[in-house]
Amino acid sequence: MKGLRLDKWLANAGMGTRTEVKKAVRASRVVVNGNVARDSAMHVVPGDDVVEFDGVEVPYLKFVYFMMYKPQGVLSATEDLRDPVVIDLLDDADAHFDVFPVGRLDKDAEGLLLLTNDGQLTHQLLSPKKHVPKLYLVHVDGELTESDVDVIRKGVVLEDGYEALPGELEIIERGQTSIGRITIYEGKFHQVKRMFAALGKPVTFLKRLRMGPLTLDETLEPGEYRLLTERELQELQ
Ligand code: URA
Repeated sequence: MKGLRLDKWLANAGMGTRTEVKKAVRASRVVVNGNVARDSAMHVVPGDDVVEFDGVEVPYLKFVYFMMYKPQGVLSATEDLRDPVVIDLLDDADAHFDVFPVGRLDKDAEGLLLLTNDGQLTHQLLSPKKHVPKLYLVHVDGELTESDVDVIRKGVVLEDGYEALPGELEIIERGQTSIGRITIYEGKFHQVKRMFAALGKPVTFLKRLRMGPLTLDETLEPGEYRLLTERELQELQ
């Protein structure tokens, strides 16, 4: 395998920003194959070279995976001229990873968003053929009924004539405004909003709770994120 720069290896493993790890190399805190590293631009090869930081071996991490609680008002994009984007929420030490959001959540929606630089996993999760389930909590204007549950189960026809794949709607609270949980197996533009619009009950609040095997960590506050655990990562593969 081709090598990479020592500072990239260290930064990828979470040892600090590129600037911080360069400083650490200058301070002789980094050892490669038993020798103190002199140049943070030196090439190291995963599988061949052993890198240590303050005497502790640093494994090579190719990809990173963050679970974020996307807040409302932030775009699930890497850059935008007008609005804040989820990448702006990353700590300085994580900003160099070149992660991108896996799929979209509308600006006014909140909840689970996976960020990674692993293009293959992204492709798998987003592929329309895979029918990865996504669970949302919704508040709607109007009273949800058993007939709505039925229509969603059979495949609601959207205003443009597209017939959505069958989903599952669970009513949690009914009234002038209702609360439900809906699982869908595709991810078309504004899908959930359009499904409820077709029922005549517009969505007023939308929060993604699950995506495939991943469940939003309820200890995260809006705008916070954390690395996926080993277990979550295994479940995703
Ligand atoms: N459906 C929507 O309408 N919006 C989202 O952000 C996600 C699913």
